[in-house]
Amino acid sequence: MKPIELSLYASRKSLDAPLRCPNCCHGYKHKASLYNHMTYECGVEAMFECTICGKKCKRKMHLIYHLGRVHSILRSNIVFVSKTGYKILDK
Ligand SMILES: [Zn+2]
Ligand SMILES: [Zn+2]
Repeated sequence: MKPIELSLYASRKSLDAPLRCPNCCHGYKHKASLYNHMTYECGVEAMFECTICGKKCKRKMHLIYHLGRVHSILRSNIVFVSKTGYKILDK
């Protein structure tokens, strides 16, 4: 590979994913995506637990999706009372 090609390749690659997680080297295009990854995914215990079946989720969105799909609970009936704590309103 000629040096010019190598540098083109390198710059394109860094354009695709300029931000890197320092823990696992996952690449992200957006600061917010990297932040979400580091906060909720990378080396983090699953913090959101389904109070009905005990399934654990790493992301709030995954839990909300799980509650809706598996337990038919509407998003509007899920009220978060702390970062990971929530209650389900009666219909
Ligand atoms: Zn990571
Ligand atoms: Zn569940």
